[in-house]
Amino acid sequence: MALTKTIVEEFIRTGDMDDAGFLALLQTDAFDELLKKEADRIRRENYGEDVYIRGLIEFTNYCKNNCYYCGIRCGNKKAERYRLSQEEILSCCDEGYRLGFRTFVLQGGEDPYYTDEVLCGIVKEIRGRFPDCAITLSAGERSRESYQALFDAGANRYLLRHETADDVHYGKLHPAEMSLKNRKACLFHLKEIGYQVGSGFMVGSPYQTPEIILKDLRFLQELKPDMIGIGPYLTHQDTPFREFENGSFELTLRLISILRIIFPWALIPATTALGTIRPDGRERGLQAGANVVMPNLSPVGVRELYSLYENKICTGEEAAQCRGCLEQRVRSAGYRIVTHIGNVKR
Ligand code: SAH
Repeated sequence: MALTKTIVEEFIRTGDMDDAGFLALLQTDAFDELLKKEADRIRRENYGEDVYIRGLIEFTNYCKNNCYYCGIRCGNKKAERYRLSQEEILSCCDEGYRLGFRTFVLQGGEDPYYTDEVLCGIVKEIRGRFPDCAITLSAGERSRESYQALFDAGANRYLLRHETADDVHYGKLHPAEMSLKNRKACLFHLKEIGYQVGSGFMVGSPYQTPEIILKDLRFLQELKPDMIGIGPYLTHQDTPFREFENGSFELTLRLISILRIIFPWALIPATTALGTIRPDGRERGLQAGANVVMPNLSPVGVRELYSLYENKICTGEEAAQCRGCLEQRVRSAGYRIVTHIGNVKR
């Protein structure tokens, strides 16, 4: 199909397009400037120059899953494992609060140590100490009852990328005991319970095709998540995917713009993976339509160990340094960090 400027302008106006249009748009860089300009316009219409910050606390790198792309998969015997105690997590929150963070994101592998009892205990403690903050969890697939208990304990948001919306592709990225069906069920449970939900996928993961990315977009249109996180796939030597190349920076930026146009109100992070593949990746992500950054609040001693992929940035800095550095980067990109909790507008 010959994609014309008129068709792309129609997409920008309506926020949707037919399959052939999306497939063509994913495979050409001819409209990248236009997409970026219009995505930035839409983001400014809705959010002005505001960039939300979320403090990321990587609380465990133990994981019972064996996702083929991920450096902390259980099959990676080289990974040195750690988990943070409740006290350590709370002191990360304390520090974050002092630095102006009003959202804490607890992210980790699927670590059976954090039973509902343990994790609810941690959430309740954070909720009690920081009643004015949002608590976001990113701890993988759990039962509906578990999600409900965590919500009742005080969690408000949950990040769970669907990773890929194609069944066959899902099977190529994950061992047989994992399924897209269950992943999707988790996402819908989270929504039903009342969480603000974040989903997303890796760009350029092994065996991904434009047709699969189109499915990702269609699935997101169905799910209507509050946040959409995408970042380039980055290779890790200690995984079965060590021979595969990193995803494309340019395609990730194009997709951020496309997502902004489809979902004018979405919270779209300029991810750490984007900052890892290019030194100015996060700034470029913001300029392409992203409006969230997630600096690291984890204790410096464990940051190297939370190694989903190689060369991850910001592993050496204290939280305060990260905060300061991002402040600069966001400003240099033409935006400003806001510290209020930033509830989703619709
Ligand atoms: N265990 C949690 C958190 C996963 S880590 C969960 O299952 O949701 C957060 C995200 O990092 C994942 O959803 C995945 O999309 C991304 N990720 C993992 N390995 C990666 C890699 N090699 N390159 C880029 N992103 C990766």
